[in-house]
Amino acid sequence: MGFCVPANAVKNVKSRYRGSNVTAQHFIANQWSAPSNGETIAVVNPSTGLEFTRIARGNAADIDAAVRAARKAFDTTWRRTGPVERGRILARLGQLILDNHESLTRIESEDTGKPLKQAAADITVCARYLEFYAGACDKLHGETIPFLHGHTVLAVREPHGVTGHIIPWNYPAAMFGRSVAASLAAGNACVVKPAEDACLSYLKLAELAAEAGLPAGVLNIVTGYGREAGAALAEHPGIAHISFTGSPATGTAVAQAAARHHCPVTLELGGKSPQIVFDDVDLDAALPVIRNAIVQNSGQTCSAGSRLLVQSSLYEELIERLARSFEAVTAGPADGDYDCGPLINAAQLDRVKTFLARAEADNIRFAATAKLAPDAAQGGYFQPPVLLRDVPHKHTLAQDEVFGPVLVAMPFADEAEAVDLANDTAFGLVAGIWTRDGGRQMRLAHAFHGGQVFINCYGAGGGIELPFGGVKQSGYGREKGMEGLLSFTTLKTITLNHG
Ligand code: NAD
Repeated sequence: MGFCVPANAVKNVKSRYRGSNVTAQHFIANQWSAPSNGETIAVVNPSTGLEFTRIARGNAADIDAAVRAARKAFDTTWRRTGPVERGRILARLGQLILDNHESLTRIESEDTGKPLKQAAADITVCARYLEFYAGACDKLHGETIPFLHGHTVLAVREPHGVTGHIIPWNYPAAMFGRSVAASLAAGNACVVKPAEDACLSYLKLAELAAEAGLPAGVLNIVTGYGREAGAALAEHPGIAHISFTGSPATGTAVAQAAARHHCPVTLELGGKSPQIVFDDVDLDAALPVIRNAIVQNSGQTCSAGSRLLVQSSLYEELIERLARSFEAVTAGPADGDYDCGPLINAAQLDRVKTFLARAEADNIRFAATAKLAPDAAQGGYFQPPVLLRDVPHKHTLAQDEVFGPVLVAMPFADEAEAVDLANDTAFGLVAGIWTRDGGRQMRLAHAFHGGQVFINCYGAGGGIELPFGGVKQSGYGREKGMEGLLSFTTLKTITLNHG
C-alpha cells in the first residue's frame, strides 16, 4: 500500500453543512451518501435556538452499508497497510486538522455552543491525538513467552476488525481523536455515529481523512438519532468492538445490545468527581483551577470537578473567595467568546434548571450565580454557572450528575471523612486532591475509588497521553494514551513447535 491519495478520495467532498442548499448526507467509503429513507434532522445553534442546517437521519440500512464498506476496506486494504504507512496517513490528517484549524473551530463552536477559545482548544487536542497515535502505530509491540523446549510462543496485537464508535455531543472533535484515531492507528476500520446534536465537525474530519489518503471505507460516518442509527450500530453483528461515551442509561443499553453478539465494549459514562481541598492548600493557585473545572464547557464535561469537599477550617474563606470568582464569570453566545457558552439543547437546559429548582425547593443556599451576557439571545440555552453551598451529602445535587455549570460544596472534618465523602457516590471517574502534605496526597490518591487522580492540579477534558476511564457507574475500559490503543486490539497467541 503506497501513500498516494486514492483517486476517489476527495471527489465530491465539498462541505455539506454551511449555508446548506445541499442535502444532508452520510460519509461512507469516501463518498457522500444520501440517507436511505431520505429523511433529515434539524441542526440548531445552541446560542440562538435556531435551525441553521440539516443532517441525514440514518437508520439500520445506512449503518449496514457503512459496516459492509468498513469490512471490505479492512479485508482488502487496511489490514495490509503496514504501521508505518498507517502512521503517515494519520500524521497527514493531524496536519490537515491544523491547516483547517479556523474553519473546524467555527464549525465546532456553532454546532455545540462552545466559546471560540474552547472550540479552538478542542481542535488542537484533536490534532494532538492524531499526532500521538500516528507516532504510536509502529510501537504496538507484542511479546515472546518462554514455553516448552523447542517451541517459540508469540503474543501479537491484532486489530478487532470493524469498530463502532458512539459519540456524545460535549467534546465531538476531541472524541474523534481519542476514540476514532486510536482505533485507526491500531489497524481497525471504523463506523462512527456522532451525536445528533453535534456531528458537523465529523463530516469535515471525514473529508480531511480522505484528503489525507485514508483508503475508502476505512472511516465511515453515519449521522442520526441514537435510538435509530446508534442502536443499529450497537447490535450489528459485523461490529467487533464498541467505544461508547455518554449517559449510564444509554451505556447500559449499548452494552446489552453488544452482548447479544459477544462484542466487547468500552464505556465512559460520566461522573460526580470530587475536588478535595485541605486547609494547607495554596488557595491562590487552586481557586481558578477549581472554578474552571466546572465552568469549562458549561459543566458538560464527564470529568467536571462538580463536587467541592472543603476542610471545615478553610470552608468559609474558600466559599467566599470562590463566590466572588463565580460572580466574575459571564455566560454568553459562542461567538462572543465568553467564559462559557450555552448548554447543548433545550432538554439539557431543562435538566439543569430542574436540578436548580429542586435546590431552591430544598432551601439549599446559592453562594453565587454568574452573569449572563447582554447579547445572549432569548432563544439560546443559557445557564450561568452556580455555586451551591452546604449541600447535604445525600441530596440529589450532591449525588447525581447534573452535566451543567453547577458546583456543589460541602465541608469535611478530617482526612477520613474526606475519603468517605469522595467515594460515596455511584460514580468513580476523577478526583482532585489539594494539599501540600505529601503523605496525605498519596494516601488519598490510593484511597479514592476511581480512574484518575489529580494532585494540586485538575485536567478536566485534557490529557492525550494519560489513560482515562472509570469504575462503578462511570464505566469500564480505558481510552487515551497507549492503554487506549491497546483497547482497540485483541491478543493472539501463536505457538510454534520447531523441534
Ligand atoms: P446519550 O448517552 O443518550 O447519548 C450519547 C450518544 O449515544 C449519542 O450519540 C446518542 O445518539 C447515542 N444513543 C442514544 N441512545 C442510544 C441507543 N439506544 N443506542 C445506541 N446509541 C444511542 O446522552 P444524551 O441523551 O445526549 O444526554 C443525556 C445525559 O447523558 C446528559 O444529561 C449527561 O448527563 C449524559 N452525558 C454524558 C456524557 C459523558 O461524556 N459522559 C456525554 C453526553 C451526555
